[in-house]
Amino acid sequence: MKLYDALIHETMETAGKAKHFPAGSLTPWPVTESSELIMQRQAAFELGGSGNPSANYTLVTTDPALAGDEVLLLGPDLSDLKGDAPFARIVILETEEISEDDAGHDMIRQMEFVRYHVFPEGYMVRVSSTSFEEQVRVSRDAVKKGIRFGRVGKAYIERYKKVPGVKSVKILFLTDRAAVEILKPNAKKADDITKTLSHILDGLPTDCGHCSLKSVCDEVEGMREMHLGKKK
Ligand code: SF4
Repeated sequence: MKLYDALIHETMETAGKAKHFPAGSLTPWPVTESSELIMQRQAAFELGGSGNPSANYTLVTTDPALAGDEVLLLGPDLSDLKGDAPFARIVILETEEISEDDAGHDMIRQMEFVRYHVFPEGYMVRVSSTSFEEQVRVSRDAVKKGIRFGRVGKAYIERYKKVPGVKSVKILFLTDRAAVEILKPNAKKADDITKTLSHILDGLPTDCGHCSLKSVCDEVEGMREMHLGKKK
């Protein structure tokens, strides 16, 4: 599946100077069962809040050349931040081909579930699915214990790897303002692709003349072929 590949290329180009941490070299940061409440007075800083730009999106590919288990960081790490900062978390998943049966639906459902259900200790995530942003409040305690994006990313990688069909996981963290601002519009584009894909898998009629998703198909290479091919 190549539906998200153009967005992957654009994202990786913008994150060109990011540091790479191979997943095998990282120990996952501990996670909790459910979201932890961190009060403002306990916080060291917030990511993606207080007027700072923020973005959160997930991209999927079947091309191993675009994937690989690693964490990328562009901008200061959690240990180097002195105050609130811009923030983006972008996930690139390499998966098996998404099938048109229940397994395909289930894979998309589970990938969306994991996006909002990893709870690193001392790292309170607040997501907004409508504005495609993510805010994180990091506790002073976690900073004292040495929290780093590499270890948080490894916790995400381990959770994603439990989803059947997921082969490799790349997690990008950005605290670089310019890069977050460049990539921010991609969050809506990625969401449009995922929603269109879900509708297609749901058995949407192949009537382009009356379809509200036409603008997505006009822009995303392979979407129309996928739907019309599915009908055949
Ligand atoms: S191929 Fe046509 S019918 Fe199918 S989602 Fe795209 S515009 Fe809609």
